[in-house]
Amino acid sequence: MIDFVIPAPPTPWIPVSGGGAFPVRRVYCIGRNYAAHAIEMGYNPDREPPFFFQKNPDNLDPSGEFPYPPRSGDVHHEVELVIALKSGGANIPLNRALDHVWGYAVSLDMTRRDLQGEAKKLGRPWEIGKAFERSAPVGPLVPVAKSGHLSAGRIELKVNGELRQEGDLNQMIWKVPEMISHLSDYFELQPGDIIMSGTPSGVGAVKRGDRMEAMIEGLGSLMVTVV
Ligand code: MN
Repeated sequence: MIDFVIPAPPTPWIPVSGGGAFPVRRVYCIGRNYAAHAIEMGYNPDREPPFFFQKNPDNLDPSGEFPYPPRSGDVHHEVELVIALKSGGANIPLNRALDHVWGYAVSLDMTRRDLQGEAKKLGRPWEIGKAFERSAPVGPLVPVAKSGHLSAGRIELKVNGELRQEGDLNQMIWKVPEMISHLSDYFELQPGDIIMSGTPSGVGAVKRGDRMEAMIEGLGSLMVTVV
């Protein structure tokens, strides 16, 4: 037993569909992984090497409520597929990458776009725009045994019943095995790591009272109210 000098913080976790909880170690997020979203943000949609940023594990929030964060007037929704790893390692070859996946979930990469934009302009890191409290609403994790591996299927987001974002997982520039393999060349992946795999086009602002409904075919829906 380690003699912690303050109470140890709780382990962040995601609920599992059918019962149980998946403990989270790290959260990696890929940027611009759908061509149409890269274009809407003013970037080259070609297959450039993927880039990653991180959220904090305790930013994940299964509560179904998203508190509008401070210091921003332009908070955007980004619906994303979550990939949860049961094992890891370094330099994982492409053809072994899917062996490390425990399950998949629907999530939202909520973004203080105004603060992220300022950071981009100044060449600063993105945390202030991306890694704030409860910035990653997430639905129950569906085990691969139930969902199979997801390489295609509709992904969409409605706000107050109106369709805002839509795409197909088969439009991802970097596929699930490629993201895992690429990340493992730079980081030693571990059980409990999750990857948020980028958003299709149609990102936009939310306001208090909005009801977001994120859906990925095969995983179901995630309902989140902005409070
Ligand atoms: Mn994103």
